[in-house]
Amino acid sequence: MSVDRIIYIPIPKWAIKRIDKLRRAFLWKGDKPENIKPGASLEFFIIENLSILGGLGIHYLQKFSSAWRLTWLWLRWTDPSKPWEKLDLPYNKADVQLSHACTKITLDVEVLHELVQLGSLLHHDELLVNTEDKIEWTQTTDGLYSARSAYHAQFFGTERNKSFKMIWTAEAQSKQRFLGWLILHQKTLTAENLLIRHWPCNWICQLCTEAFEDTDHLFRQCKVTKQIWQEVSRQKQIPAFSTLENI
Ligand SMILES: [Zn+2]
Repeated sequence: MSVDRIIYIPIPKWAIKRIDKLRRAFLWKGDKPENIKPGASLEFFIIENLSILGGLGIHYLQKFSSAWRLTWLWLRWTDPSKPWEKLDLPYNKADVQLSHACTKITLDVEVLHELVQLGSLLHHDELLVNTEDKIEWTQTTDGLYSARSAYHAQFFGTERNKSFKMIWTAEAQSKQRFLGWLILHQKTLTAENLLIRHWPCNWICQLCTEAFEDTDHLFRQCKVTKQIWQEVSRQKQIPAFSTLENI
């Protein structure tokens, strides 16, 4: 069953775990999970983060599913004529809390008795006289719900790193951007990471043969690498690497 067919109902944790295992193995090696060495792939929480937050933008299924399930709650307010309105809809408590956090509801005080019945919504409602009851989605400029904004809202509070945005907007091939992404996460298969995985390797930097090969050395500190960066900056007429030390 494709993912877009199951996102409107809460996905069992075991199913998410199984799907993530398949996705992780495919992304890492284009293979089945049983053919991937233990500890070989990136932690999936890194991959699932938004690209502007350092991830690959692969959907975090639990958040993605929740974002789409808010459609039920939104339509319940905006279009109560739906035939499924009286049914027990498949959203959970967390979905309701997310909906509360992303909406602003304006209610006419003349319907106060109804408001009391909706007691759990009181904390963020606005009371006005002789006005139409309405709901606004606070995560979009037009005040309308979108699954995309509901998905992004669930990443609020995650620290942003401007370097990731630079990588994905760089004029480079996809494989080069991906390498840059791996470097920022210090996940390239340098000796440092191979040793962590107990994979046999030569741990001396093969460019200078003078130092231990880790990500920082290979791509920044190695004297051979520095010469390459200097030549690139001269040919492309871009700032020297020494001015980009904070990246
Ligand atoms: Zn070196």
